[in-house]
Amino acid sequence: MVMMECLGTRNIAAMAGYPSPARRCRARRLSGKHSTRLHWYRSRIPTIQARAGDGSESCVVVKEDFVDEEDYIKAGGSELLFVQMQQTKPMDKQAKIADKLPSITVGESILDLVVIGCGPAGLSLAAESAKLGLKVGLVGPDLPFTNNYGVWEDEFKGLGLEKCIEHVWKDTIVYLDSDDPILIGRAYGRVSRHLLHEELLKRCVESGVSYLNSKVERIIEATDGHSLVICERDIIIPCRFATVASGAASGKLLQYEVGGPRVSVQTAYGVEVEVENNPYDPSLMVFMDYRDYTKPAVQCLEAEYPTFLYVMPMSPTRVFFEEWSYIPVGGSLPNTEQKNLAFGAAASMVHPATGYSVVRSLSEAPKYASVIANILKQGMDSKHVMTPDKNIGNISMQAWSSLWPQERKRQRSFFLFGLALILQLDIEGIRTFFHTFFRLPNWMWQGFLGSTLSSANLIVFAFYMFVMAPNSMRMCLIRHLLSDPTGSTMVRTFLTL
Ligand SMILES: Cc1cc2nc3c(=O)[nH]c(=O)nc-3n(C[C@H](O)[C@H](O)[C@H](O)COP(=O)(O)OP(=O)(O)OC[C@H]3O[C@@H](n4cnc5c(N)ncnc54)[C@H](O)[C@@H]3O)c2cc1C
Repeated sequence: MVMMECLGTRNIAAMAGYPSPARRCRARRLSGKHSTRLHWYRSRIPTIQARAGDGSESCVVVKEDFVDEEDYIKAGGSELLFVQMQQTKPMDKQAKIADKLPSITVGESILDLVVIGCGPAGLSLAAESAKLGLKVGLVGPDLPFTNNYGVWEDEFKGLGLEKCIEHVWKDTIVYLDSDDPILIGRAYGRVSRHLLHEELLKRCVESGVSYLNSKVERIIEATDGHSLVICERDIIIPCRFATVASGAASGKLLQYEVGGPRVSVQTAYGVEVEVENNPYDPSLMVFMDYRDYTKPAVQCLEAEYPTFLYVMPMSPTRVFFEEWSYIPVGGSLPNTEQKNLAFGAAASMVHPATGYSVVRSLSEAPKYASVIANILKQGMDSKHVMTPDKNIGNISMQAWSSLWPQERKRQRSFFLFGLALILQLDIEGIRTFFHTFFRLPNWMWQGFLGSTLSSANLIVFAFYMFVMAPNSMRMCLIRHLLSDPTGSTMVRTFLTL
C-alpha cells in the first residue's frame, strides 16, 4: 500500500488572514505556493491565467476576473486549474438539465425568482420555491455533480434521500495514534452523485422550474424594483428576486462583509484504487486516520503540518481515498443589506470545521423558500410589481435574518474559533484535541459536527472540553481565546442579542 503514504490526505491550509504577522508566517508555510497572496485586502485583482503541462498538451484555465483576493482564493487560488478540472469531469450517467427542464422564456410574464447556480443548493432551492407556486427560473452551466459527497446516514434519511446513498458503512472509525481507535457509533454513507442529481432535477421538473444554460455576469436593479439578471451573450432575465447559489466564489454577484474572518481551505488528494489486500475493515468508514505511516522511513512535515487520511473501504480489494478536492471554509458572511439573496456555499453556509454544506442546504431549502414566498407576497402591489416605496433592503433583510439569525452567527463564530485553533496545532496537539473531543457525550460532538448545537449547548460543550482536556490543551485554549482575533469575535458575537 505505497499509495497510502501520499494519497488521500486532507489538511486545512490558511490562505488569507487577519493582518497578524505570526499567523501570516504560519499560513505561508502551510500553503506554500500561496505565499504571495496572503495579504488581506479588497480590491480588484488582475485577470489570472494559469497553465499546466509543459508545451503542446498544456491546458489553459479559462480566464476569470475575480472581484478580490478572497474571491480568488475561494475559486481555487493557485489550484484553480485543478478546481476547474474537478468541476468539469465527464459524468455520462447524469442527464443534461436542458433536456429535462423547459427553457426560460423572456418577455412573457415576469419570473418571481431566479436561482443562479445548479449545484445541490441551487437545485433544491429552485424546486422548493416552485413547489410553493412561485414562477422560478434556474440559470447556470449545465454541469453534472462531480464530487463524492459523504454524509451521516441518519441525516440523509431524515431528508428522505436514503435512496441516493450508494454505499453505507455501519460505523465510522477514527485513528489518532497507534493506540485504540475510536468507534464513532454512527453509520456513514457515500452519496451517489448521479442519483442525487437525478432526484433534485426530478423535483425541479415536477414543480415546474424553467432553465437557461448560461453563466450570470451580474445582477442590476431596474427602476421599477425588479432585478435584471444579466447572463452571457447579453441575455437579460427580469425577475422579482434573484438568489445567488453559485458556490463559494460568488463575489462577482454578491457583496460580502469587509474585514470578516479569513478564508481557509481544506484540500485533499486521493484516488479510488484496486489493491491486493486492503488494510481497512470494509464495514467501517475511516473518518480520520492521523497515524503516521512514513515516520520511520521518510522525513516529512507531518509533525508540524498534520494531515489525515479519509478512507472509504469499498470492499476487501477496493478502497477510496478522498479524491482531489478544494473546499474553502470560513471567510466573511454576505452583506445582509443587499437586495439579492444567496444560498448554499455562496451564502457562507459551509461548516467551518468540516467543510460540509450539502445537508444543511438541502434541509433549509424548504424553510428558505417559504420565507422568500412570503416576502414576495408582502412586497408586491396588486399588479405584481415590487412597490417602489417599500424599502427593498428591509424586505430582503427578512430572508437574510432567516438564513443568518444571531443564533447562527454565534454558532459560526464558535466554529471559526475552533478552526483557527486546529490550524495552529501540531500533530500531538491535534491528537490531544480529538482524544478530548471524542470523549465528550455523543450528542455533543455529533451536534458540533452537524451544526445542530444551540449557542447555549456550545457553551456547555466548551465547558466540558475544558474540564476533560489535559492541562497542556487547557493552556492552549486559554491562550487562543485571549490572543486570537476569533476569540474576541466569538465573545462579542455571543454577547450580542
Ligand atoms: C471532492 C469534493 C468533496 C466534497 N465533499 C463534500 C461532502 O462530503 N459533503 C459536503 O457537504 N460538501 C462536500 N464538499 C463541498 C461541496 O462541494 C460544497 O459544499 C457544495 O457543493 C456546495 O454546494 P452549492 O450548491 O452551494 O455550490 P456548488 O456545488 O459549488 O454549485 C455552484 C454552481 O453554480 C454554478 N455557477 C458558478 N458561477 C456561476 C455563475 N456566474 N452563473 C451561474 N452559475 C454559476 C457552478 O457551475 C455550479 O454548478 C466537497 C467538495 C469537493 C470538491
